[in-house]
Amino acid sequence: MRFDKTLEVQRAMAIYAHPDDAEFGMAGTVAKWAKAGVEFTYCMVTNGASGSQDPKMTRKRLRNVRAAEQREAARILGVKNVVFLDFEDGYLEPTIDVRRAVAREIRRHRPDVIFTMDPTTRYGGGYVNHPDHIAAGEVVLRSINPDASTRQMLPELWQKERLEPHKPKALFLMAFGKPDTIVDVSDVVEIKMRALLAHRSQIEPESVDFVRGWMRETGKKKRYSYAEGFKVLRFEEDGQTRRDARREGRKAPQARGRRASPRTTRARRGRPAR
Ligand SMILES: [Zn+2]
Repeated sequence: MRFDKTLEVQRAMAIYAHPDDAEFGMAGTVAKWAKAGVEFTYCMVTNGASGSQDPKMTRKRLRNVRAAEQREAARILGVKNVVFLDFEDGYLEPTIDVRRAVAREIRRHRPDVIFTMDPTTRYGGGYVNHPDHIAAGEVVLRSINPDASTRQMLPELWQKERLEPHKPKALFLMAFGKPDTIVDVSDVVEIKMRALLAHRSQIEPESVDFVRGWMRETGKKKRYSYAEGFKVLRFEEDGQTRRDARREGRKAPQARGRRASPRTTRARRGRPAR
């Protein structure tokens, strides 16, 4: 899919803290791109186990409920792969373990575009941003430089797991406030709302109208009925990465990360719960 003059997208990846984060901010764009043939991967960093005020709920039960809800939302949107990293909801920090786990998924799925939340947003009108959102966004920034893109950073990923460095062409930050890029999602707005409502443990059908309100507001300037807004950073492929890719391509084509992906992804999904 061609997004604009300079950005061609075949694979995209959304990396975010909690189940439902992606649905709130960017599910219209996900549905639209998936329809256009983009292979989308969701990478949910925490397990969502803190998202309840019910004294009878347990973290273990909620974790399973929320994973099922996220799978259902992904199915509705046409997301191809859903990866659960399973770090604890509410306790997320940008530690080297989290950074390695995220860098591994980026190297494995090799997205042209990564989506995440802007980690510089700490609070707004009547809103304090969740620290997990900030931590997940921070981890994604670190993945672009240096964790996923630099050969001698986390060298075990290519030495032991054969996952070559990878840098996306662009980063789309869910912008609270001033987006520089507006995506028209008018024709997929109902799909987005259905995906959002798949998160039954979090959202009541009568309480989602404010999301439509956001999307109408975002679209106003461009005269779209509904839109989503992002801050977009674009990256040049650097010389080192290009040289390495050429060398690896000549030497050992079977060792490229992308080729190992379907097998390793299936294996991970089938592993026992941590
Ligand atoms: Zn969240």
